[in-house]
Amino acid sequence: MRFLIPLFLLVNFVYAKTNIVVSILPQQTFVEKIGGDKVNVVSMVTPGSNPHSYEPKASQMIHISKADIYFPIGFGFEDTWLNKFANQNKNMKFIKMTKDVQRIMMKKHNHHHEGHKEHDENKKDHEHNEHHEHEEHTDKAEYKEDPHTWTSPKNVKIMAKNIYAVLVQVDSSNKEYYLNNYNNFVNEINQTDKKIKEIFTKIPKNSKFMVFHPAWGYFAKDYNLIQFPVEVEGKEPKPKILKEIIEEAKKENIKAIFTQSEFSDKSAKVIADELKIKVIKETPLATNWSQNLIHVANTIANNN
Ligand code: ZN
Repeated sequence: MRFLIPLFLLVNFVYAKTNIVVSILPQQTFVEKIGGDKVNVVSMVTPGSNPHSYEPKASQMIHISKADIYFPIGFGFEDTWLNKFANQNKNMKFIKMTKDVQRIMMKKHNHHHEGHKEHDENKKDHEHNEHHEHEEHTDKAEYKEDPHTWTSPKNVKIMAKNIYAVLVQVDSSNKEYYLNNYNNFVNEINQTDKKIKEIFTKIPKNSKFMVFHPAWGYFAKDYNLIQFPVEVEGKEPKPKILKEIIEEAKKENIKAIFTQSEFSDKSAKVIADELKIKVIKETPLATNWSQNLIHVANTIANNN
């Protein structure tokens, strides 16, 4: 017996996986792509839940207490919860998955009265990396960082690099393994980007697509599209605004409206009924990230 205990510990040590917690499901996919069978990844926001209004459940604290790493991505709930997570597990490292990703700013208020192109150009002035820099802007009430960074393959490539660097740091003995997975994933991201570009050669530059929740800002920026949102500050628009949105959608000859199952589609249905257009459910939170982006690209292209 005396020999068995150290042996068991040794075996346990050799096969121990790195326990990782992420905020949303696509992040889980990214970490698993690179970490493979050397990592255990859990997403705080569970399938079908809205990450903007998410409250971690008490039962999820068990994942926090076992985790080696937490990768925040910049959703609101992290502001309140990361401190609590840190108190729960003092050994857990927090590493921003979006380090070096250029953030775009989105207007907090509905901007249907303004030219969207103008707005797009304005955004460039507001691009920056770190959250705290935002405090220095005089117009901080007007703009907020768009957290939906992972809808851009370009951004996901940066995230992959960050994940790879961290995994090598915590488990250098498997560096070759991670490097190989990382290269494969970068290849997959490039292929995804290439396919999406091909799909959008079918439609004119600056084509508009209408979404209930503005989750596709980075995607739109990458592929020269314009996202036309319905939601106002995270809420269904008031009747007066809804009327204006319908008028503009008519003028723009919008052919479909995209909703996601994580949100109510009440006002989207009102708009769709009024304009006799389709409501199409798509989510940016799917685990099959690559196929999902290609699928969304096809849906946008076919409904433009
Ligand atoms: Zn969102």
